[in-house]
Amino acid sequence: MKILIATGNKGKIREMNELFSDMPVEFVGIDTLEEVPEVVEDGSTFHENALKKAMTFYNRASMPVLAEDSGLEVEALEGAPGIYSARYAGAEATDEDNIRKLLDALKGVPPEQRRARFVSVLCFVLDGKPHFFEGEVEGWITDRPSGSYGFGYDPVFVPDGYDKTFAELGPEIKNRISHRAKAIAEFKEFLKGLLAKE
Ligand code: IMP
Repeated sequence: MKILIATGNKGKIREMNELFSDMPVEFVGIDTLEEVPEVVEDGSTFHENALKKAMTFYNRASMPVLAEDSGLEVEALEGAPGIYSARYAGAEATDEDNIRKLLDALKGVPPEQRRARFVSVLCFVLDGKPHFFEGEVEGWITDRPSGSYGFGYDPVFVPDGYDKTFAELGPEIKNRISHRAKAIAEFKEFLKGLLAKE
């Protein structure tokens, strides 16, 4: 089955391909489309944004589409940056800008009050019908970035059960325990059922 991944985020596309390397599906990126529609992520939840992205690309490409909306929720910041994770420090913000803003917002907050979770919501549109899959990983935010793997907030997020950031732990561990890995595991079960029927 050929599936269009509705994202231009290279870090996410790389992780998706790693996570699906054992499945008989072929993923194509939005760069294969002649014209890439612009999606304004103005939903108020991860679900709304994932649905909007998936439907916009489904209507344009008429093929199965997988879209993801994900982000970081920090307890001491009442769930921020949440759905604004990619543009926390502004529309053109880099990962480094976002991390700096997050660490500034948490300045002076002790380790036990730096609880956070990553959330991933996948929306798979098949024959015009959306199906949702979700995953979360709990952990805490360090006071300085370390490590060079991954993307986004990986250098400041330590998952529970480990004493290193996602950016230090690397893809093998991250792809086993991350929010995205969990959402994808659910989606894979759904796909297996679907492929078995074909
Ligand atoms: P979106 O889902 O493309 O709207 O953006 C999600 C944003 O959340 C990313 O740009 C990152 O800043 C952050 N994020 C989501 N998943 C991860 C992850 O696995 N590691 C680090 N940051 C992430």
